[in-house]
Amino acid sequence: MRHASLWLTWVTLLGLAACSGTSTPPAPTTSTPPVTTVTSTAVVPTPTAPQPPAGPVMPGVRVTLADVGLEASSLDRTTDPCGDFYQFACGGWLAHNPIPSDRARWARYSEIEEKNLAAIKTILEEATKGIGGDASTKKLGDYYASCMDEAAIERGGTTAIKPLLDRAAKVKDARTWAAMVVELHKLGIWVVWKADAAADLKESVQNITYLDPAGLGLPDRDYYVKPDFKDKLDAYKLHVARMLTLAGTPAPRAEAAAADVLAIETEIAKGTKTATEKRDVPASYNPTDLKALGKQTKSVDWKAYWKAIGISPSKKIVVGTPKFFASLDKLRARFKGPQWASYFTFHLVEATAFALPKAFDDEAFELLKVLTGIETKPERSKRCIDATQKGLGELLGEQYVAKHFPASAKQTATALVDALVRAMGEELGRLDWMTPTTKQIAQAKLAKIVRMVGYPDKWRTSPFDVKRDDFAGNHLRATSFEIRRKLGKSGKPVDRSEWLMNAHEVNAYYDPTANNTALLAGILQPPFFGQDRSVAANLGGIGMVIGHELTHGFDDQGAQFDADGNLKNWWQKEDAARFEAKSTCVADQYSTFEAGPKLFINGKLTLGENIADLGGVKMAFQAYRTLRKDAAKIYVADGYNEDQQFFIAVGQAWCSKDRLAEIQRRLTVDPHAPPKFRVYGSLRNLKEFSEAFSCAPGTPMNPAKPCSVW
Ligand SMILES: [Zn+2]
Repeated sequence: MRHASLWLTWVTLLGLAACSGTSTPPAPTTSTPPVTTVTSTAVVPTPTAPQPPAGPVMPGVRVTLADVGLEASSLDRTTDPCGDFYQFACGGWLAHNPIPSDRARWARYSEIEEKNLAAIKTILEEATKGIGGDASTKKLGDYYASCMDEAAIERGGTTAIKPLLDRAAKVKDARTWAAMVVELHKLGIWVVWKADAAADLKESVQNITYLDPAGLGLPDRDYYVKPDFKDKLDAYKLHVARMLTLAGTPAPRAEAAAADVLAIETEIAKGTKTATEKRDVPASYNPTDLKALGKQTKSVDWKAYWKAIGISPSKKIVVGTPKFFASLDKLRARFKGPQWASYFTFHLVEATAFALPKAFDDEAFELLKVLTGIETKPERSKRCIDATQKGLGELLGEQYVAKHFPASAKQTATALVDALVRAMGEELGRLDWMTPTTKQIAQAKLAKIVRMVGYPDKWRTSPFDVKRDDFAGNHLRATSFEIRRKLGKSGKPVDRSEWLMNAHEVNAYYDPTANNTALLAGILQPPFFGQDRSVAANLGGIGMVIGHELTHGFDDQGAQFDADGNLKNWWQKEDAARFEAKSTCVADQYSTFEAGPKLFINGKLTLGENIADLGGVKMAFQAYRTLRKDAAKIYVADGYNEDQQFFIAVGQAWCSKDRLAEIQRRLTVDPHAPPKFRVYGSLRNLKEFSEAFSCAPGTPMNPAKPCSVW
């Protein structure tokens, strides 16, 4: 399970559980993208084709859903598309795809992840044999091999972290407390607070240092303070006690020590904003500097802190939650040295458990089971692929792209992105609620979005030692290198060519501070994308994803940034008021969606993503219509016309299942609505959808009061 970086709060991801990646290569094509190529495949219905839906016979060439890149078997034709379109599009898939025991969620993109994992496994296994031979390949092979060598890990015991364990045990005053915080921060183990470097929200060409509370072992502050999570909190306490015992705390003391850890974390949780509060960008922008911080927080010698980390902070430092730092001295003094020692010890072993003997790793998995409902550990090779990509992500991305991402796929996908930008420009032009002044600025911002497809132009290197028999050491060297690399950007100009995710991941993102969007090579596969799929299928799949990312530039957060990525108001007052009312409609509607028994979506937490989904599917539909408007032939697939195929493609890209604990976790921390509601919510508010399926007014998929923003 990966935790997104704190300041990725501003960067809006597609919401796929990125895990790792590599794909089967899409078939290269020489046709001018994006065209449908079904003419070259079967145009006669196969004998096994399902019966077309009842209704008038449509004109067009008869083909099957498979011919256009869709799946008849994933449909549930017993469900009325106007009642619950998600069930209609995904019912067959849902019935035949149980959640694998090692997954908390199983979705269509998980299938791609599994394919990517298999491809990366081949790359890494060849690398361990020395095939390929260059320095990068050797490094990848050694890293992966060290992770797979369980015997060596077992023999190593806790040697790699022993000096830190000893140091944690000796924490007794403000000085030793601060020194321990630094030691853990150097390894990216963010106890008490977290530091990061990213673009200055108000001067986006410059990187600055950011600080915010951190150091919770549970997924969110709500787990500590809301009664709904009591069972999770109780289980966590037992887990902390067992982990501390493994780390050397005498068994009779472990329970009390765990209570200390929970007491400290509960105080931190109280000082931490909710996931929804964190979305308030201006409220999180509180500039200060070293001197002012030092006056406020006597427990920390900030100059010494940065010196120990090995970087210089920017002159301007932005604090997300000033109140927390104002009371940091009190927090420290409230607990005694041995209590802090337990807290530091627990976080050290928890963060490194995978690189320690099996007993630690097994115990870490016990917590994961409670928090996500997952039943079995993924096989070691998958977890080692994940570890390798965390340590050497760009090296792996480079090899993945070379082997599995043809230039033609980049070309086709780039053409689709361009088509979506055009469609969005046309939609902006048609908006009836925005004054020409604001509209013009919005158009200029759209035109300035930098479109990145597939992979970066230049790859970062990983200049640190990797030893084949020292996984714990490799892990620590990789994390400390990454922390210095990231924090080292403080005070320096922003490099806008840098990618924030690895090329092989199954994901996409929009970064409002750079006004750029990236579509990663890893996601450019069915059921999102295929060079031999029809225009309708590709636009319903990856087209919606691209439209979603572009719309992020104009969601409730993105709209606060200008074309250059600065947090700066560019809205006329009356337009801002109308935008707000439209956003409220979306938030209110989504808050009525029940994702599990009495588990409702938080419409405010998910607002930005839902606005992006609504806009994304609308732009993608317009782009598809434009691309097909002069088509010589139209295709009817198993009785569904091309508009209907587009919407089936939208649904089939998002079929997904979550375990109950995972639903609860995601509703608390994930800014995305569950996939079912991303489909249900975005389509029921789109008039083109109800037209395509002739949904009567008042049916669930054609409500009386639809919401629309862009
Ligand atoms: Zn998004």
